[in-house]
Amino acid sequence: MINFCKECIMPNTRPRIEFSENGVCNACMHSKKKEKINWKERENEFLNLVRNIKNYSKQNKNLYDCIVPWSGGKDSTSIALKLKFNFDLNPLLVTFSPLMVNDIGSFNRNELIKKGFDAIFINPNQYIAKKLSKRFFIERGNPKVAWDAGVNAGPVQIALKYKIPFVFYAEHGESEYGGLVLDQNSEKKRNLREVIEHQVGDFPVNWVSNEITEKDLAPYIYPEEKELAEINLNSYYFSYFFKWSMLDNFHYVSKMLPTFKLEENQRTQGTFTNFDSLDDKIDCLYYYMQYIKFGFGRATRDSCRMIQNNQMNRDEAIKLARKYDSEFPTKNFNEVLKYLNLSEDQFTSIVDKHRNQEIWKVNLDNKWSLINTI
Ligand SMILES: [Zn+2]
Repeated sequence: MINFCKECIMPNTRPRIEFSENGVCNACMHSKKKEKINWKERENEFLNLVRNIKNYSKQNKNLYDCIVPWSGGKDSTSIALKLKFNFDLNPLLVTFSPLMVNDIGSFNRNELIKKGFDAIFINPNQYIAKKLSKRFFIERGNPKVAWDAGVNAGPVQIALKYKIPFVFYAEHGESEYGGLVLDQNSEKKRNLREVIEHQVGDFPVNWVSNEITEKDLAPYIYPEEKELAEINLNSYYFSYFFKWSMLDNFHYVSKMLPTFKLEENQRTQGTFTNFDSLDDKIDCLYYYMQYIKFGFGRATRDSCRMIQNNQMNRDEAIKLARKYDSEFPTKNFNEVLKYLNLSEDQFTSIVDKHRNQEIWKVNLDNKWSLINTI
């Protein structure tokens, strides 16, 4: 039996989510906390940090002030734009290649670079990237486990090489969207243990196999703590300093970068939005697998975020979740099968293996349905 938050529509099947006695999830409680934060004070804290960064660059003759892990999507793009044009920093943008690069992502990244940014694109060994993606799709129902590790490790590897000790991440997912916050400071400064435990699940060095050597895993391995201590690496979340809202980020980017492209078909499969997570052909499968494993899809994810920022009401969210959550990712399906080197039958049996038996049932017509929905 799935229970849903009384304020948004997030189910209790979401990993690490917690509900209050009144049935309200921790992401909703966090959003109430955000209302009470003195954002002016936080901005001043940020201005102080900017001053420190500039001093550091001057003393150490650093030409880049900070690193922005940058997918090219609206969130990381909005951070890059603000750091450069509002705070006069010179960020180096670092992209860890999407698994399946698409035109929209490449186009949007180029548009920002044209506006005046330096960027590094990390392109990992594609033979290994595919092998890892397939392995984790089979084992964990998630084709993006290794990619998640790469996204975390890549920008930090670059920070070490260039000796740039400041990194700006977007939002702290564990507090923004409901999760387990390991320590109070991790809303502001990135806690590596939290990231490894919650996002990646284990350390990439454990992925060595008959087919994959430790050297093959180089792009995914996070530098050692002692190496990071040598440059005194500081990784911050932008969402600590400025009130986070994906819709506001999108509006800001559209204003600053009018050529920024959106999903061509008015909305992305599985949801009602057309501006989020557009840069990887495999993303629709990634979100669909959340629906299989946890019973909530991308429309629930997007609408909860909007409810928490007072941009949508709950009834509207319920309608959208009912309509789109279960939508199968047909758009790049054949290409995804080819990428994972799977037949359609193999694919289907992997998907079914990951259905959570506590929330799915087989009907008389042999089709799957959720035991209960919102
Ligand atoms: Zn909630």
